[in-house]
Amino acid sequence: MIPGLMQDVPLLTTAIMAHAETAHGRVEIVSRTVEGRVHRYDYAGMAARARRMARALQALGVKSGDRVASLAWNTHRHLELFYAVPGLGAVLNTVNPRLFDDQIVYVLEHAESTVLFYDRTFAPLVERLADRFTTVKTFVLMSDAESHDPGAVGALNYETLADAQSDAAFPWPSFDENAGAFLCYTSGTTGDPKGVLYSHRAVVIHALAAGLASAFGLTAFDVVMPCSSLYHATAWGLPFICPINGCKLVLPAEKMDPASLQDLIIGEGVTFSGGVPTIWTMYLDWLAQTGQTVGQLKRVIIGGSAVPRAMAETFKVKHGVQVLQIWGMTETCPLGVVATPTPSIAALGEDQVDEVIWTRQGRLQFGIELKIMAEDGSEAPRDGETSGALMVRGPWTIKSYFRKEETVILDADGWFDTGDIATLDEHGFMRITDRAKDVIKTGGEWISSIDLENIAVACPGVKIAAVVGIPHPKWEERPLLVIETHEGRTVTRDEVLDYLRPRIVKWWMPDDVVFAAVPLTATGKIDKKTLRAAWNGHLT
Ligand code: ADP
Repeated sequence: MIPGLMQDVPLLTTAIMAHAETAHGRVEIVSRTVEGRVHRYDYAGMAARARRMARALQALGVKSGDRVASLAWNTHRHLELFYAVPGLGAVLNTVNPRLFDDQIVYVLEHAESTVLFYDRTFAPLVERLADRFTTVKTFVLMSDAESHDPGAVGALNYETLADAQSDAAFPWPSFDENAGAFLCYTSGTTGDPKGVLYSHRAVVIHALAAGLASAFGLTAFDVVMPCSSLYHATAWGLPFICPINGCKLVLPAEKMDPASLQDLIIGEGVTFSGGVPTIWTMYLDWLAQTGQTVGQLKRVIIGGSAVPRAMAETFKVKHGVQVLQIWGMTETCPLGVVATPTPSIAALGEDQVDEVIWTRQGRLQFGIELKIMAEDGSEAPRDGETSGALMVRGPWTIKSYFRKEETVILDADGWFDTGDIATLDEHGFMRITDRAKDVIKTGGEWISSIDLENIAVACPGVKIAAVVGIPHPKWEERPLLVIETHEGRTVTRDEVLDYLRPRIVKWWMPDDVVFAAVPLTATGKIDKKTLRAAWNGHLT
């Protein structure tokens, strides 16, 4: 080979901020604050504040490679840290506040974070656990100066730190694009949380790819409101995708209730939003109750758990909103696939387009290869039928977990086993049938808990449907359907079974239907481990 003769410019997140400042400097960023008021500025304002924070971080002694932790919602201050911390070559460890106390301690200790930024909401949590954070030297409360309360940890104030610094041009360092930028931990539903360290290069090319027309298709005409959390796999990369494409950004802080979201959707002209299904279940329910409309909202990306078909249909038929299902995981930065139509699907007619994009998690995107592995280790055919272990590979897929580099997690060809069971078809569409550990194994056959849940959740009155396999004396495991109903609605066991009967094969019929609150994990997924434990003896 001979070397190419093009500029060797590392792909760093600072380049995204610099581009947004020069190309989209006057494009607005609107953020609710935890204090309650709405804060407005633009990409130029954000870049200026990130410069102040970079200087403040340096003054606090933060150096390249250090870890800085955040316990914070979707706000402009958190966004500033998304650029200031990695811009210095340090790593932002976004901690999921919904983890249990012991897991939060584990994450901070394992990451060895030296500074902890936190929203006022988490002051009690921080005070409760501060003694156990042995590496944290500095606490910073992310509130305005007027309502600052240093608490028992003697927290510094975010605004005071920023005000003390200049926003003049800052000499952002240049370094290897493979340097770590964000440290995100998986929710640890089994064992301790595991750290996934995103490099600058992975974050930048993931953001470039996610903006493509075959994926999110964002343009400078879009107004984007991320309802996926900044602390969970960087809110699906939207804090980078939006500035690259010049989208107005609307940040809802912690207020994800339907009425608060609606204020922003209508008031700010939101065209594009995204979040886990739970948020949209509540929002659609609220729209039905209040008779309100969705304003300019045109597209919603939904992922993290399977999108119930009924949700996508209601969005389209009642509100003219296109749902784009996505699948991904912390280990893939997080985007894997996005369900957008192709000409070959479109040629089959609108019904077929709906059928495909409502029932598949998405289709292959450049930059992340997928394959299905059969039980014998061979590659399964791409026939849309044969299911097996979903394997992924590519420049924004994990190589090894942070501080567990000696543990090999890829196969000899570099494939990572996602732990999901899926099918792939000849058009490149992937369908998740289950997480490997949630598949119901009954008499030697498999039942997809996701498929059953998707059907059951469309039964009138049902809010959440959870299916788990529990021990059965004859069949090894049988499905149990746990239902949480919409408030004020009563649904009977027979109504649910009558609803399911014509829609599923006989041997998939749940052995029982029970009514209870469905527990959710720290990342908003149905907590099947807890459900299995709670109902373990129900059929024996
Ligand atoms: P956690 O820490 O909860 O594991 P992740 O975001 O990493 O958080 O979870 C990734 C997992 O979520 C995937 O492996 C898959 O099982 C599930 N998931 C994500 N998106 C979808 C989807 N659209 N449909 C079904 N499952 C999904």
